[in-house]
Amino acid sequence: MKRVLITGAAGFLGSHLCDRFIKEGCYVIAMDNLITGRMENIEHLIGNENFHFVHHDVSNFVHVGGDLDYILHFASPASPIDYLKIPIQTLKVGSLGTHNLLGLAKAKEARMLIASTSEVYGDPTVHPQPEDYWGNVNPIGPRGVYDEAKRFQEAITMAYHRYHNVETRIIRIFNTYGPRMRLNDGRVLPAFIGQALRGEDLTVFGDGSQTRSFCYVDDLVEGIYKLLLSDYSYPVNIGNPDEITISQFAEEIIKLTATTQKVIYKDLPVDDPTQRQPNIDKAREILNWEPKVTRAEGLKITYDYFKSLSEEELYKKDHNSFKQYIK
Ligand code: UDP
Repeated sequence: MKRVLITGAAGFLGSHLCDRFIKEGCYVIAMDNLITGRMENIEHLIGNENFHFVHHDVSNFVHVGGDLDYILHFASPASPIDYLKIPIQTLKVGSLGTHNLLGLAKAKEARMLIASTSEVYGDPTVHPQPEDYWGNVNPIGPRGVYDEAKRFQEAITMAYHRYHNVETRIIRIFNTYGPRMRLNDGRVLPAFIGQALRGEDLTVFGDGSQTRSFCYVDDLVEGIYKLLLSDYSYPVNIGNPDEITISQFAEEIIKLTATTQKVIYKDLPVDDPTQRQPNIDKAREILNWEPKVTRAEGLKITYDYFKSLSEEELYKKDHNSFKQYIK
């Protein structure tokens, strides 16, 4: 039985990974400090004999007893609103956290996969973005705390691979959506669906001509699983190349939710990338992977999830545990 450590396990992606690895017959050690993660996402696994939850911040020394086969590092605030609120923690988990986990991987002779991001490309001048594009990132802007932590994360991961022979895998994740996203995390999809459900207007930032390409979470998890089991140690983009402007996306959500609300325009956040679309040739070639779920299918499942949440969730302004971390 493979023993897997998943960090950020109570988050959106981490919790879906826990489900997948349990389904694959692994023993899962799930770690989270619960700043942005939520126990609700994994409570169905509590009591499973192959699942063990550890409340811990991986920016501090990480101890795990026994053997480990795989480490998947998914702990990090991951929405612009989150990392603006907790910038130092964002920098620490991508740098110190990754360092601690690479040390653990080395000690346990485990294979480690890190969650990197399309944000390493910044506001890209090459479109769509292939893995060999080095990016256009503002290191001192508000997004710099995330982008540069993730770039450092890739650098230290390659260093451990080259210098210590640790088996490493790097995934660059593009915009992903699905059930268990936080309704109030500020990302565009929960923002629009939450607004529609509350009977508010949909807030498009800027003129809405910026583009994103949205991948359904099950497709992403399949890509992660395939990359982990592959022997490829350079970064691989995983995302859905189906690109759309944010204005068009707002129209799709209006149609999906049958809301009578309209679109209103707000200021574009600083350094908001103007376009984003993954080039997934590498994933196709090396992993024989490509996304299967269309946006129409994925949005319907995700909307059904958000509809099932309580009134209290729908109107919650912030994530409670933030407060103790904001100085
Ligand atoms: N956005 C928007 N309205 C919102 C939230 C986000 O128009 O209420 C825009 C945001 O400016 C960006 C895009 O939607 O251009 C995607 O934002 P998100 O925060 O989901 O992720 P990003 O891809 O920017 O990291």
